[in-house]
Parts: sequence; structure tokens; C-alpha cells
Amino acid sequence: MTLAVQEIFFSLQGESTRAGLPCVFVRLAGCPLRCTWCDTEAVRTAPGRPMSVDDVLVAVAAHACPLVEVTGGEPLAQDGAPELLRALCDAGYTVLLETSGAFGLSGVPADVHVIMDVKPPSSGEQARLVRANFDRLGPGDEVKFVVADRFDFDYALEILGGLPDRRFAVLFSPILSRLDPSALAQWLLAARVMDARLQIQLHKLGHFA
Ligand code: SF4
Repeated sequence: MTLAVQEIFFSLQGESTRAGLPCVFVRLAGCPLRCTWCDTEAVRTAPGRPMSVDDVLVAVAAHACPLVEVTGGEPLAQDGAPELLRALCDAGYTVLLETSGAFGLSGVPADVHVIMDVKPPSSGEQARLVRANFDRLGPGDEVKFVVADRFDFDYALEILGGLPDRRFAVLFSPILSRLDPSALAQWLLAARVMDARLQIQLHKLGHFA
């Protein structure tokens, strides 16, 4: 199976419960979504470099880091993504998958830690969310809401309110160009979302190819 890979790089894990840890990122090319504030537009539209699963394993191993995140673009838009995820798990890595939630998670190996980056109304793509994906999530998985405004925040609360037995971690991040983190902090405290944590995009602080 051949994958279209945009880049493989070593940086800090950004918006997850593992934020701050060194991590190898495998960024797959392409995404069928069109979020209005997409910050990886070049990845979304570029063809990427063809690589086999074995090629990716070799490139990842060069960084000698136990934590690997497969991201995009939208990684699950590629048919080879589940095979890559399986191979990384079998090689002994702790494997994270960052996905928009617009594709079903049925092909994702159970030992992969899913980080579902739910697209809010300001993205223009909230209708793409596969809500059945929440049934796949459990301890070790995470749901992230990157919000631009109060409308996005209320949308996130509405989703969480419909999932009272949630077992996954809940993360909120502000789009820094659109929303002051302190405003989001105040909203979270006022809403008393006790299992949610506020994060900043740490992965934008360092990037080593
Ligand atoms: S899902 Fe991610 S890569 Fe795709 S358009 Fe939205 S922000 Fe960009």
C-alpha cells in the first residue's frame, strides 16, 4: 500500500493530553474538507510524496522517539491509513491519530489513541462529523474542540451535553488569531465543564524535519 506523505518531522506534541512531549509527526497529504480557517492548506491540496508503509517506518525510526502521531490533512481520507496505523502499533510505538471525525473509525486499530478534532460551525464543515464515532472512543482517546468564538463554544457544549457518559478526554483550544485564550478560560469555568482542559497550540513552537 502506498501513502501520499506530506512530511515526517520531530516536534513537540501540541494539543492533546500528551502536550509538551517529543513526538514524531507523520503528516499525510490531502483532505476533502474545506475548513474556512484551515492552517494546513498546502497539505490539503498538495499531492504528497508516495511512500510505502515500510518507508514511513524507516523514516519514523530515524527520530528514535516512542510517540508517533499520524495527522494530516485528513489521514483517514487515504485507504492506506489503517495499515500504517497497524504497522506503527506493531513496531511498538504509542500511536496517536488526529482526525476531523468526518470519516468512520471502524478501520482504526483499537490500540491507536484517537484525537478527534471536531470541526465547529466557524469551520463551515460541522455537518461532516460522523457522530457514531463517539461510540468508538474510550479511555485513551480524546475529543478536541478548536473554537473561534462563542457560537463554536456553545456548539461544543451541545455535543458534550448529548454524551453524558463520555469516557474520553475533552480538550478546548482557541484559534489564537480569533479568540483570546483568557475568554475561553472564563467560558469553560463559567460553564463548569469539569472534565475539559484548556490548551494552547504548543506544536507551533518547534519543528525539526
Ligand atoms: S480538516 Fe484539517 S486539513 Fe482538512 S480542511 Fe479542515 S483544518 Fe484543513
